[in-house]
Amino acid sequence: KNDVTHEGLCFYSEDMESSFILRRQRYIQLKSAITDQNIVVLFQPIVNASSGQLEAVEALVRIQGEDGDLIPPIEFIALAEETRLIIPLGERVIQLALAQLQQWNISGLKLRMCINVSPIQFLDPHFVPFLLKTIDQYNVYPKMIELEVTESMMLQNLEQVTHDMAQLRELGISISIDDFGTGFSCLSYLKDLPVDVLKIDKSFVAQLSIEQPDEILVKTIATLANSIGLKSVAEGVESILQAQRLKELDVSFLQGYYFSRPVPAHEIKSRYPI
Ligand code: C2E
Ligand code: CA
Ligand code: CA
Ligand code: CA
Repeated sequence: KNDVTHEGLCFYSEDMESSFILRRQRYIQLKSAITDQNIVVLFQPIVNASSGQLEAVEALVRIQGEDGDLIPPIEFIALAEETRLIIPLGERVIQLALAQLQQWNISGLKLRMCINVSPIQFLDPHFVPFLLKTIDQYNVYPKMIELEVTESMMLQNLEQVTHDMAQLRELGISISIDDFGTGFSCLSYLKDLPVDVLKIDKSFVAQLSIEQPDEILVKTIATLANSIGLKSVAEGVESILQAQRLKELDVSFLQGYYFSRPVPAHEIKSRYPI
């Protein structure tokens, strides 16, 4: 049944009502996960395409549910962005990732830590100070940190983004463009922005060896990266054939289920002992 409310602008259906309730529940769950420290970070290996060596990990956030299940980001990142909870959530991810980086450093495991940063989080004025404070707190090398941002962010507030990126870059932090090729790529920003790495979206990688047109896309991105002095990472590598092809195409780094799913920190340590 549909009812017009007295404000006249909204109308209700039972479906919408239940989706509001669901949203509300998700919001409360997310908020308490942040305050109760039920935020978990998994790490996915990123290997050097030519040597096969583990070089980096990507930190991927999860909520620890009441039953012990891990809730994936698809269920809460959009809501977190809409409600700005992405800011405390993102801060928690940075703390967890850098604390882990410090542990690995102490035990002699030298890895770069790649951290996803949402545009809302990056554009928040407290982002850079918080990051610097946390780097200091955990005593980690800025050179070991890579921030993954999306193309869409570049177009939002180019002046501030350029300024902040340059500042982070000066400290040795690298910046990678996530999901490269899926947005409205405006290639001109690449020459103006302090960017280090292009991450080739998994949708392109998935088509490798099936469809020729996507192979051309992967090849073009890899060639573009190489020719302007950037590194490239292919994500979503699921088979040895894809890995071999990407290596032939001179992609610098590979990441995907073929190498490992995202795993808890201790599994990284046990799989890659020093
Ligand atoms: P993303 O940054 O593109 O991360 C890659 C996603 O692909 C991850 O999903 C990863 O588990 C998945 N993946 C890795 N290898 C493979 C593969 O071989 N095949 C397939 N099909 N998938 C693969 P996940 O962990 O569910 O994260 C989804 C998205 O949520 C991320 O996409 C990122 O946009 C966002 N996200 C994750 N953690 C954070 C975070 O800490 N902060 C923010 N702002 N966003 C995050
Ligand atoms: Ca990413
Ligand atoms: Ca991606
Ligand atoms: Ca993404």
